[in-house]
Order: sequence, then C-alpha cells, then structure tokens
Amino acid sequence: MASLSRALRVAATCPRRSRTRGLGLRALTGQAGPAAEKSVPYRRTLKDPQGPSTVARGPSQPLPSTAHVVVIGGGSLGCQTLYHLAKLGVSGAVLLERERLTSGTTWHTAGLLWQLRPSDVEVELLAHTRRVVSHDLEEETGLHTGWIQNGGLFIASNRQRLDEYKRLMSLGKAYGVESHVLSPAETKALYPLMNVDDLYGTLYVPHDGTMDPAGTCTALTRAAAARGAQVIENCPVTGIRVRTDDFGVRRVAAVETEHGSIQTPCVVNCAGVWASAVGRMAGVKVPLVAMHHAYVVTERIEGIQNMPNVRDHDASVYLRLQGDALSVGGYETNPIFWEEVSDKFAFGLFDLDWDVFTQHIEGAINRVPVLEKTGVKSTVCGPESFTPDHKPLMGEAPELRGFFLGCGFNSAGMMLGGGCGQELAHWIVHGRPEKDMYSYDIRRFHHLLTDHRRWIRERSHESYAKNYSVVFPHDEPLAGRNMRTDPLHEELLARGCFFQERQGWERPGWFTPKGTAPVLRYDYYGAYGNRMHEDHAYGRLLGDEYTFDFPPHHDVIKKECLACRGAAAVFNMSYFGKFYLVGLDARKAADWLFSADVSRPPGSTVYTCMLNHRGGTESDLTVSRLAPGPQASALTPAFEGDGYYLAVGGAVAQHNWSHISTVLQDQKFRCQLIDSSEDLGLISIQGPASRAILQEVLDADLSNEAFPFSTHRLVRAMRLSFVGELGWELHVPKPACVPVYRAVMAAGTKHGLVNAGYRAIDSLSIEKGYRHWHADLRPDDSPLEAGLAFTCKLKSAVPFLGREALEKQRAEGLRRRLVCFTVDEKVPMFGLEAIWRNGQVVGHVRRADFGFAVDKTLAYGYIRDPSGQSVSLDFVKSGDYAVERMGVAHPARAHLKSPFDPDNKRVKGIY
Ligand SMILES: Cc1cc2nc3c(=O)[nH]c(=O)nc-3n(C[C@H](O)[C@H](O)[C@H](O)COP(=O)(O)OP(=O)(O)OC[C@H]3O[C@@H](n4cnc5c(N)ncnc54)[C@H](O)[C@@H]3O)c2cc1C
Repeated sequence: MASLSRALRVAATCPRRSRTRGLGLRALTGQAGPAAEKSVPYRRTLKDPQGPSTVARGPSQPLPSTAHVVVIGGGSLGCQTLYHLAKLGVSGAVLLERERLTSGTTWHTAGLLWQLRPSDVEVELLAHTRRVVSHDLEEETGLHTGWIQNGGLFIASNRQRLDEYKRLMSLGKAYGVESHVLSPAETKALYPLMNVDDLYGTLYVPHDGTMDPAGTCTALTRAAAARGAQVIENCPVTGIRVRTDDFGVRRVAAVETEHGSIQTPCVVNCAGVWASAVGRMAGVKVPLVAMHHAYVVTERIEGIQNMPNVRDHDASVYLRLQGDALSVGGYETNPIFWEEVSDKFAFGLFDLDWDVFTQHIEGAINRVPVLEKTGVKSTVCGPESFTPDHKPLMGEAPELRGFFLGCGFNSAGMMLGGGCGQELAHWIVHGRPEKDMYSYDIRRFHHLLTDHRRWIRERSHESYAKNYSVVFPHDEPLAGRNMRTDPLHEELLARGCFFQERQGWERPGWFTPKGTAPVLRYDYYGAYGNRMHEDHAYGRLLGDEYTFDFPPHHDVIKKECLACRGAAAVFNMSYFGKFYLVGLDARKAADWLFSADVSRPPGSTVYTCMLNHRGGTESDLTVSRLAPGPQASALTPAFEGDGYYLAVGGAVAQHNWSHISTVLQDQKFRCQLIDSSEDLGLISIQGPASRAILQEVLDADLSNEAFPFSTHRLVRAMRLSFVGELGWELHVPKPACVPVYRAVMAAGTKHGLVNAGYRAIDSLSIEKGYRHWHADLRPDDSPLEAGLAFTCKLKSAVPFLGREALEKQRAEGLRRRLVCFTVDEKVPMFGLEAIWRNGQVVGHVRRADFGFAVDKTLAYGYIRDPSGQSVSLDFVKSGDYAVERMGVAHPARAHLKSPFDPDNKRVKGIY
C-alpha cells in the first residue's frame, strides 16, 4: 500500500518518464504502477469479470429497420438524451452502444455535482440534472440512482477567490440554491479533519452531492424503455449514410452497424472521446481532444464519513467523499493527451502517471493532513474529452442536417448530463433548445477553426489547465491567438492596442499608453518542455485585469469613452460578419427572417432582430437594402432580384450564418447567402466631431439632410451608432483599410479623435441602453421582453418567423421585462448579481458596466413578479430596488428609458 506522501517521495526520486510515451492502455487488472492496488469502483456492477469484450456476442436486441432518432453512445449523455427524448414523446428512439452501457468514460467518473457555476444557464442545467437523479428517476422507476447528498464545500485561500464565491452565492439566490459563506472556524466545525489555518473562508452548498454512474444510467434507460425507447448494446456504429436532397442539402439517411443498418433522419453523436471518429463517418468536424484525467482512492479515513465534497480551487484539487474514504483528483498544467484514441477501450483505464499526478498531493495533504498517512487503495485514470473553450459541443452540425452533437463535456458530463440531455431532446423535437444554449452550440465556432489542429489543441490545453482558475470578467486566452487578424492589426498594435480574442479574431480591447503589447506564441505555461515567457507586456496587462474591482486601467477606458462623447473615437470593427443575401426570393426571405421591415428603398439601413419560432431573439443586426445591379463591384455582388447587406457582430457571425442558412433551407427560398467578412474591413468613427472629420476624408455631403441617420452610401458609409453618438461606419475593401484609417486619423487629430476598443464600446453602449446579443438579449428573450418592440413589424400584416409567438406573448402579458438599474455607489458590477425588489429576489443582472458620462454603474436584468403575474410598467416603477454584489445589497434605481440621452438626440446629430 502506498501512502499519498510516499507517492510524492517516489515521484520526486523517480527518473522522469516521458509524458507521452510508455503509457499504454491497460485492462482493469493490468500491471500495478507505484500505487499498489488498482481495483476500481463499480467493478462489481459493470465490469465483465470474464474480461474479454462481449461485442463478439452480437447486439443485445435485434435492430429495427427504421427509427425517428438514433443516439450513438451509452454513456451519461446518450442515456440522458434517450430518456428526455422518450419523455418528450419521441416513439421508438434507439440507443446504440458499441460495448456495454457506461463502458467509455462514464463508468469511472467521480460523479460530483456542484450546483453553482458562474453562468445562469449552467445553474439551471445543473438544477435539472439534480432533479432527475435525486427525484424524478426514482419516482418513475422505483430504482435508487445512487444519488448522495453530502453537500459541497469550496475553499478560498485568498480574497479574490472568496469574492468569486460570494458572486456565486448572490446568483444562487436568484435560483433558490442555498449556500453559505463560512469563516475558517465555521468550516472547521463542519469538517473537523480540515486544515483551516491558511483559509480565507469557504462557500458551503448543502444540497450538492454525488451521482452514481451505473445507477443513474440504469434508471435512465429503464425509464426510457418504459416509454418505448430501445437500448441496443454490443453494436458499434460503423458508418453514417448521407443523402443530398433536391435543394443540394446534405441530410442524414441511415446508421450502419456490423449487424445491419437503421434508416433514420436524425442521429445524435454522444460518443464521448470517440465522437470525432463518429463525426468523421459523416464528414462532420468535432473539435475536441482526448486527455487523461485521474483521481486516486484512499484507504479508510476515520472520521471522514458524511463530510461534504471539497473543491480547493487554489490548490487545483478536489476531495470527493467515497464511503469512508476520499477520492483525490485535480487539474494539472501538463495533462497527457491521448493521441491515438483506440476503439478497443471498454471499461479501460490508463496507468496513472505519478509524475503528472504528484502536483495534487501536496495540496490535498495541506487541506486534509490525515491524508499524509493514508494509503492509496486504487488509481483511476481514464480518458475524457476537452474542448477549446471548455464548453460542450451540442446542436445540429453545420455540415449535415439531422446530425446532432452531444459530446465534449470537459469533466462535467455527469452533472451537466441531465440538463444537456433535456436541451438536446428539445432541440431535436422542436428545432431549438428551450434555454439559451449558444455557449454550447457547435455553431458558435467559426468553420475555419473547427478542424484547426493547433487552435483546438492549444485552447483545449489552456482550458484544462485553467479549469479551477478564478473566472474573472475580463480574462482572455493566451492560447490559439493571432489566428485571424485584419489589415489594421499591425497599425493598431503599434499604437498600443491590447487585443481581445473572439472566435479566432483579434479585436481591439483598449489602448494602453505604456507601449506595445503583442500576444506571444503560446508557451503551454511551461509544460511539455516549452520555455515559459517570463515577463511580457500582454501578460502583465492581462494580469492586472484579474480583479473584481475596477482594473488599474479603468481611467484609460474612461478617457476613450469620454473622448467619444466629447469629440470622436475611431473603432476598428473589421472582424464583423458581413453577408449578402441576394436572389429572386431574397425579399421573401428578408421579410420572413427579419422582425423589422427591411425592404425599404435602396440606401436605407435598418436595425432588426432575427427570431426563432418561439419568439426568442437569435440575433440583432443591421440590414441595408441594396440597389439592384447586374455588375459586381468590390462592395456589391452582381445579383438578380433583391439584395441586402447584413452586418453582424463578429463573435456571433457563424451563429448568424447558420441560423439564416437553416431557415433558407427549411423554407426553400431561392436565394444566396454570400460571406464577404474576409474581404471587407469596418472602421467606425463616432462622436460629435465625426462629421467634421469625415467631411475632410469623404467626397459625400454628410449633412443631416443629405445623409440622414440610418442610411448608407457607396463607398459603403453607414450612418449608424453602437455607442449613441453621431457617427458613421465605413465598410471598406480590405486593401483600402490602412489608407482610409490613416486619412481619418490625420484629419481627426485636431478634433481630438482617439483610438478606442471594445471595452469602450461595452461601456458606451450600456450607457445608451443598446443591447448586446448574448448578454442582455438571447434566444430565450423575446424582443418584447427586451424592450425592442420597435424592431418588430407587428403593425404590418407581413408574416415573419416568431410573429405568432410574439402576438401570443403580447396578448397574455409579459412575464418578465428587461430593466435598467443605476447604482449610485461606485462599485464595479459585471453581471450575475441578484436583483432585489421590496425585499424579494426578482431576477439577476445579465450585463453591467460603468458608464463614464453618467458616472455610475449600470446594470441590466430581467425581472419577474414573484406572485407570477405579468410584469407591468407600474410594477417596474413602483418597487424599491437593490442590486446584491458579493452578498452586499446596494440601493439601485430602476429606469424605463436609458438614463443617457433618453430622447435620442445625439444619434441625430443634435448636440
Ligand atoms: C477521472 C474522471 C473524473 C470525472 N469526474 C467527474 C465529476 O465529478 N463530475 C462530472 O460531472 N463529470 C466528471 N467526469 C466527466 C464525466 O465522467 C464525463 O464527462 C462523462 O462521463 C462523459 O459521458 P459521455 O456520455 O459523453 O461519454 P462516454 O461515457 O465515454 O460515452 C460514450 C459512449 O459511446 C460509445 N461509443 C463510442 N463509439 C461508438 C460507436 N462507434 N458506436 C456505438 N457506440 C460508441 C462508447 O463505448 C461509450 O460508451 C470525470 C471524468 C473523469 C475521466
């Protein structure tokens, strides 16, 4: 028996093994490594004691010839998806598992479920999983899933970490998740074996717990089968048959196995680390990597029974209660990639590499000192999939209609399984998930990235290594940078631009007066023999952002904002998506796709939303009607019929593209969607002096009469504003970007023109009350709830996607409403804060920032009436409000209109 401290010593004295070689797969009963014993939990319930694969015996049931849906993979995600499909009434859904249920990653999971994460959607997903395993399944099947509610304890060793926990606690109040911030002494009373000498405090969540994989999957499949679903084990999928429909669209036709095929229009790829291989069968890119992930199980520890599970984020370790012992695991900076994913790996584990695992031992012993003298009973090191942004891959693949993903779960596939299974089922049955699943939707990634090996590998590595890092509001990745740059990149870098990364694009964040801050090649934080960058400007500036206070460069962003309000600022927004929608049916398509009337005379530009059939907002964008022309130019393609130019936020360009393409395919509109994002730059000049500056650069007459707000001209100059000022966007062919930018800067100097970035846009736009898609405007928010009724042509008779849902919502009354709050105390807020009204929590903040012209923090959140009534304007006006930040309630004022320039004078050029 090896004790943890002995393992530490062994690892320290052992010659270093290569981390990528010599780690062959081993069967459960394989050779012992430094840990003496390698039995694993659940062996008795799931492992075939005879050893060899049972696949040879053939499928556990005959295959049906057709199925409405085929789920591939019988792990947590496959079983949850099947169960929720059956619950939604899908008859005869089939799950095909290559070996036995849970035989991939699921069987050896630690099974921890923590209810609080820094995302409102994830809190809801986790709550659903918890409901399913702790209540629903038992009620439906009479089987106990193995759910244990022993509570969860998050450890804070410094103030910032405790601040993060306090943020979680405030968010939890909006969702009824009980949690308590404990002092070190209170923590000791709760967990007597814990060392609390170095603690700042803890967050205790009494209703957290642990899921049992075998019990959960058995109950899920039993409940699904009772509703008509079929589970077929020992049946590997070997191919996906695809057909091309009359409109040239690729669609799923059938699933092939060694034992026959099943015709189906819908496949769900829940194949865990094997999902990339299954994707390849269908020509679908699945951007994930497989890595080793491990924990060790200790011998019995006296007094540990009934203790809560522990996450010591600063030490990067977790301690899970396992009966009268602990499982100890964590996240390393040098995880081992599983380079050649084998398809002969059922109920398998890797040898634990103690060189890698040792880094967790010191932290674990420090937290629970009795571990130093406790033996290691077994080691559990298995494969798990990790993705570039540490979020799962879900939804319909852009390459193939009817092919859904439910994979890439970044060591959270048990706790997220129920919520995600439910959303996937909804997606398949109703065409959309119920919640806002944008962060998980495979269509969030730009198609250039989804098979870019370096990007996927670097980003997945960084995400793994930072899994337990504090989630700061303004963090940026260091991995996978400089993938996509625009012509102004070098120019702006030389002027002190601090870049942010969005979907591979480098976009300006803000401008430092302290010289240049280039992003360096990714150094893997020194892992795998890479030399770590020691001191570099970008790293230093990013490090300064690691705070929940105002960052040290708050005043730099203030200068950018106030220059824009007082003179003018230039924003490089070249990373925007720029699409043309043209063709014979383009007008019909535009009428159907866009909530606003965009079919105005050529030259007009309209701010509009695109909705889903439930009236949720899939996008907000500007649409410019084009004059018809048979000749192509640098700015307009040749087209017949009608034509529109669409400008959409760069981070969400792929999502917009996919949404439009899907609607065009579903409605069979005869038109083309053309992507010109890489051909055009976008330079925006905003502020009272913008007209004077541009008048020196452009030939056009820029007066209010000749160039009114919300119109555009060639070179495509659009009079628009994202920040609430007089301003123009110049959509310029890429080769012209640098000369145009230089001319603007030369003309602007005497007017006080400054460079500004997206941090200034964030602040200026919230101050003006403009929405940010995917923050205060999401697919689960309707434009009526978001105060954007003016973008909906409800007074016209024109049908549009989502119209019926909006009409119903209007008739029934709004159950929630987006409200602007200002907070007089100068405290920073970032979103997730709880909103109190008359002593009750009525919502949480979706988006917050500091507004420099109003000199206040502004926060936007949707509020509800706790009595369940609709939220009238009187309800909004009549309450006493406070916004709770880190457990402290700050008095707040609710506004029905933006507190800055409520009469919209400035965008009209009236100063
Ligand atoms: C050490 C460790 C600890 C963890 N701890 C936690 C935790 O505490 N909490 C938590 O929430 N998560 C945890 N996880 C993560 C969690 O276990 C996984 O995210 C989850 O089990 C993944 O489930 P899955 O269904 O996506 O994949 P899998 O369980 O791997 O299921 C995929 C299935 O697909 C099958 N398959 C593959 N190819 C084919 C084919 N061609 N035809 C048919 N079938 C096929 C496989 O046989 C497999 O059964 C942990 C993971 C590890 C490794």
